Amino acid sequence: MNTYFNADLHCHSVVSDGTLTPEELAARAKSNGVELWALTDHDEISGQHRAAAAARSLGLAYLTGTEISVTFVNNTVHIVGLGFDPDHPALTQGLAATRGGRGQRAREMAAQLEQVGIPGAYEGALQFVGNPELISRTHFARFLVETKVCRDTSEVFRKYLVEGKPGYVPHRWAALGDAVRWITEADGVAVIAHPARYKFTATEEYALFSEFKAHGGTGVEVVTGSHSAAEYVTYAAMAQEFGLAASRGSDFHSPDESHTDLGALPLLPGHLTPIWETLAHRVQPAA
Ligand code: AMP
Ligand code: MN
Ligand code: MN
Ligand code: MN
Repeated sequence: MNTYFNADLHCHSVVSDGTLTPEELAARAKSNGVELWALTDHDEISGQHRAAAAARSLGLAYLTGTEISVTFVNNTVHIVGLGFDPDHPALTQGLAATRGGRGQRAREMAAQLEQVGIPGAYEGALQFVGNPELISRTHFARFLVETKVCRDTSEVFRKYLVEGKPGYVPHRWAALGDAVRWITEADGVAVIAHPARYKFTATEEYALFSEFKAHGGTGVEVVTGSHSAAEYVTYAAMAQEFGLAASRGSDFHSPDESHTDLGALPLLPGHLTPIWETLAHRVQPAA
């Protein structure tokens, strides 16, 4: 296993805000040439056994995964966990607590949308939800596209559901140190997801990387569907500066919505340590 290897360690199924089942994703990963795959649903690991079983039956190597929502200096940051024991109580309880506020938040989002003349958004979003514990902004976005309030989900995330726009409800997610600890206690490794997406100052970003590292974090996504080619270079340098391994993942959600398909990204730059090198003992091998 080296950097010249088609690992895709970030995507979402109907267990969070993707539109494909774990089995459909496994098949798509396999047919797109992925050689090592992880399903990383938001704040959820109830799809892990299905994903691992589907990967095994296809002869696709698999790592367990999740993407935990974290609040860091009043911003939402995502921390990917990889290669953990999916039955470890520290992780399952931490994720359950993180998911806990989503129902109430969704009702408040719908109340705000109603005030701007968009009724029925809670019930409408629920129609797109595969897991009642995991109602997310993505499900509201699909409702707003279906009802032709917006043309596509990217228009939704410009006009609604984001800070300063109708339907935005600030939410306190997990603490950074807790998210990293749940993952590491369950024998996994923690990875900063798509760092270029956060609207941090340089000082805040430095604090995120330093604190993440101090809490025992291991890696950072360098090549992701959320980064431009210039950002691969920026975060390759950050990985080296902070002694972090590098990860690669499409963040695929849906054939209709995602720009980057499973397995379709450029490979990791060759001078980085790939996160999967630290995880060889946790890979469920291709049968
Ligand atoms: P939530 O966890 O409920 O706050 O929802 C976050 C999810 O919304 C992310 O994981 C993305 O799937 C989606 N999302 C956020 N911002 C955007 C955007 N600008 N375009 C498309 N999807 C987005
Ligand atoms: Mn998502
Ligand atoms: Mn994310
Ligand atoms: Mn994601």
